[in-house]
Amino acid sequence: MSHEFELQVLNPATEEVVATVPGATAADVDAAAVRATAAQAGWAALPPADRARLLRRFAVAVDEHLEELARLEVREAGHTIGNARWEAGNVRDLLDYAAGGVERLLGHQIPVPGGLNVTILEPLGVVGVIAPWNFPMPIAAWGTAPALAAGNAVLLKPAETTPLTALRLAELALEAGLPEHLFQVLPGRGPVAGNALVEHPGVAKIVFTGSTAVGKQVLAKGSALLKRVTLELGGKSPNIVFADADLEAAAAAAPMSFLDNSGQDCCARTRILVQRSVHDRFLDLLAPAIESVLVGDPADEKTDMGPLISKSQLERVRSYVDAGAPGIRGTAPDGPGFWFPPTLLTGVEPHARVAVEEVFGPVAVVLPFDDEADAVALANATDYGLSGSLWTRDVGRALRVSQAVRAGNLSVNSHSSVRYWTPFGGFKQSGIGRELGPDALAAFTETKNVFISTEGPAQ
Ligand code: NAD
Repeated sequence: MSHEFELQVLNPATEEVVATVPGATAADVDAAAVRATAAQAGWAALPPADRARLLRRFAVAVDEHLEELARLEVREAGHTIGNARWEAGNVRDLLDYAAGGVERLLGHQIPVPGGLNVTILEPLGVVGVIAPWNFPMPIAAWGTAPALAAGNAVLLKPAETTPLTALRLAELALEAGLPEHLFQVLPGRGPVAGNALVEHPGVAKIVFTGSTAVGKQVLAKGSALLKRVTLELGGKSPNIVFADADLEAAAAAAPMSFLDNSGQDCCARTRILVQRSVHDRFLDLLAPAIESVLVGDPADEKTDMGPLISKSQLERVRSYVDAGAPGIRGTAPDGPGFWFPPTLLTGVEPHARVAVEEVFGPVAVVLPFDDEADAVALANATDYGLSGSLWTRDVGRALRVSQAVRAGNLSVNSHSSVRYWTPFGGFKQSGIGRELGPDALAAFTETKNVFISTEGPAQ
């Protein structure tokens, strides 16, 4: 490979160099696409049971290396070890789930006169997956596992800061027996290697996760080639707490709904909307819960929250928070590492920058509301529409508000939103298309309609 330059991977908790990785050029992407095209033809021709078996073996290989993968993610991304283990396990589960779909990728038989009509779900060919740094393993696998299961080859471009677990997954795929070049990882810079994938005529679909600004560029460039593009972008998700909710439970769950992964989560509930009549009581409950979040060494089993990914992300997060702004703050280590304390800002105007833009750090705002209509209006007063939560004991209200909030993933009396067997994706500026769930494989196919005449050949 000719390399554009070396990517330097830093441990965000210590700022030590963990590894340097050669960055792929556009020529590298082109060569990889040629190899992938050849590998895909053989892969799609395999009996479905064989493809499923190989994907299950890949899942077993991930499971056997779960601790190693998790430790690697702690080092390159600063994720807490508990989270990192869950993330590696999520890759295993995604592969298993996708493997179960290979033999169930069903078309239709549609009644027509004069013959038989069937639909066939054919693989797209080569799929490009462009992954972010916030959940390097799960998000890479969200695209990769169903794409492979549906008979495609995958070229994965991990984020600049987090290429190591992706590279290790590609090695494990080979060890598990997946054909060479079927799943290739191309670390490199977004505007170089990522852009080359988007512009490559041999790449049929791009699965992009990252910022809304880059996602729009990917969509524009991809559509010029009529490329299939799905986008998982940012969020500014509400956590709506009604006066009739179990306030203790809502307060106990709120901190990690925006602090998990140091807030670097597109589903982070960063706008806490609280009914005015319980606003002060809720904050009294919330303060000790935020102050007790343990921020520190991500490799320590007891740690709740690690560092931010990079210096530039730290500077970005700092730019949203004035030192003297009123609110509740936790603590964070001093010294090397990209640390920012848990921060909940009070007295913020609903149109303030920190209340409308995605911070992607451990920062949330509290906004009071008066009634249900006010809550829904405030929840929807955002360009984003990815996730949201609502806390109430009133079933009718839970259903009404779930229907009224314009977002793709809502949870009632919990903050759960991502399961590999349920669909995930955004409304509005949060994205296009859905990942995961029962339709995940179909999203990596073209539907072909075939009519077979039962009339004899024309005499
Ligand atoms: P980004 O959009 O720049 O990067 C995401 C991925 O796209 C990376 O792999 C990157 O290399 C690649 N990329 C960048 N430019 C590209 C281009 N021109 N063509 C093709 N690929 C390209 O995001 P970021 O800089 O890593 O983060 C910036 C902000 O984006 C964050 O602060 C956050 O608000 C948001 N973000 C959201 C998510 C999410 O899960 N929705 C993930 C990461 C970042």
